Amino acid sequence: MQELKDQLTPVLFVGHGDPMNAVRDNAFTRTLAVMGKTLEKELNGKPKAIMMISAHWLTRGTFVSVTEKPETIYDFSGFPEELYKVVYPAPGAPETAREAIRLAPEIKEDAEWGLDHGAWSVLRHIFPAADIPVFQLSIDYYKPMQYHFDLARKLQPLRGQGVLVIGSGNIVHNLRAYFENPSGSPFDWAVEFDAWVKEKIVARDFQSLINYQSEGAAAKLAVPTPDHYAPLIYALAFAEGNEKMEFTYEEVQSSVSMRSFRVG
Ligand code: ZN
Repeated sequence: MQELKDQLTPVLFVGHGDPMNAVRDNAFTRTLAVMGKTLEKELNGKPKAIMMISAHWLTRGTFVSVTEKPETIYDFSGFPEELYKVVYPAPGAPETAREAIRLAPEIKEDAEWGLDHGAWSVLRHIFPAADIPVFQLSIDYYKPMQYHFDLARKLQPLRGQGVLVIGSGNIVHNLRAYFENPSGSPFDWAVEFDAWVKEKIVARDFQSLINYQSEGAAAKLAVPTPDHYAPLIYALAFAEGNEKMEFTYEEVQSSVSMRSFRVG
């Protein structure tokens, strides 16, 4: 059993924040670059494929992208020109995506979705060569967190097949508050909720994180909509028993938590 666990590919959760991080060199993006190099060293090569769970692919029903050559999607508006010039030309991973369907037949194929900015804005820092096949798993916007947790558990065998799972969202993500105070100090409720999530992750109390809505006012402000929080639940659900979990970046900017971690 121990041997099997040793072969599990790690899981990452990345708090992606501002799309402009895609083209920035800062403390956050540098930790992503180091992460990619560390993983390749530890795995003695590259992962076979990457399954991205991005806050920016929201659907009714759950889908995996089976595109051979995923397009870089510019799913935002009003950003500087340089952001629209970024291309992440990684190949798709349709066979691995179909393996996910075999494990959880409620997932359906999607032949159109490419890579949204929740995926490419972090992938280009982690694996700049863009030579690892990538597919995305969508987030069913209409399902409760328990559904996302249970679905991820069914997909767990992918980790034993060399697939690197990356959840890309933000533990605290309130854009209305952000635009009121973009460069200001962190909101108290943002710091409070981020610290609460950290505490529950350390305690491996995933059920409390699934039921975050009972955490009152701070939770309501920190997670006004479930899109950026759901990737956290996916990433945690992939963790096995006593696997090592390590925070790779911690920062609250205004009303956004950049907290990132690694499992395994
Ligand atoms: Zn986002």
